[in-house]
Amino acid sequence: MDFKYYSVKEINAFLTAKGLAVNKKFGQNFLINSGVCDTIVRNLELTPNDVVFEIGCGLGSLTNRLIDSSAAKVVGFEIDNAYQKHLQNIFRDSCKFTLVAGDFLKEFENAVKTHLAPGQQPVITGNLPYYITTPIMEKIFTATLGFSRAAFMMQKEVGERVVSKAGNKKYGSLSIFCQYYSEPKIIANISPASFYPQPNVNSVVLRFVHRTYEPSADNEQLFFAVARSLFINRRKQLKNNFALSPFLKSIPLEHIFQAMEQCAIAPEERGENLSIEQIIHLSNVINKLNSESKI
Ligand code: SAH
Repeated sequence: MDFKYYSVKEINAFLTAKGLAVNKKFGQNFLINSGVCDTIVRNLELTPNDVVFEIGCGLGSLTNRLIDSSAAKVVGFEIDNAYQKHLQNIFRDSCKFTLVAGDFLKEFENAVKTHLAPGQQPVITGNLPYYITTPIMEKIFTATLGFSRAAFMMQKEVGERVVSKAGNKKYGSLSIFCQYYSEPKIIANISPASFYPQPNVNSVVLRFVHRTYEPSADNEQLFFAVARSLFINRRKQLKNNFALSPFLKSIPLEHIFQAMEQCAIAPEERGENLSIEQIIHLSNVINKLNSESKI
């Protein structure tokens, strides 16, 4: 495939010829470092059994590497009309590639149903539009079919929050959410010079492998409500955050305090010190006390 958009000069010539502009609204920062595209593809460990879904193909710099990989099919999402036309044009000869012209957040579940065989799970990747990184991860992690592997480019600061463990200042509800559903790992640090136009933040590539937590949360909604409550005010002790929490309004406070005692979690502890295992245990005990009191 004759792909030639790995330099500022080439991209500029293309944009000028087509009368196109880079649209900040859609988080467009195109990858011009082909080595970074190769790192992402290598880490996805694609096989001929895989269907890979790419979020935000843009000019196609990652897409063309995915098409050249061992994956069986590449399904790309692109929201911007102007780039949809470009993608359809440059990949028109590839029988591996399908473009979903629309918003990933709206189209993902449908595309998964259309392109996967029963029992097959998607592999997902993308140099994410940074303005919707969190909604994208929420969509993927909670999708009915789940996913097997993923690799995403995101803002460094967000990536560090995703992988942080209990006790770390960056540990928070995003870390708990992502680590409940997956094992995330930072696999590369990427400088702004790898993109055009250059973003004003540093970036990282994260690799995610799907997992199911054992033991799991009996009531996932309650588990995430407890997790979010821990960080209402980082400087406050747990007992105060629980008392203040808008996420646990339907649970009597005495059940929460009783559960903390049963789980040997001190009321003076700070949320950032509780591991995911402890939060699962705590939410399971709260859930039990709460359902027993309703019988
Ligand atoms: N993968 C390309 C482009 C990355 S920039 C590269 O690395 O060069 C992010 C891309 O996501 C842009 O092309 C933007 O138009 C697209 N995008 C933004 N929001 C989107 C959404 N909700 N659904 C699908 N694509 C989206």
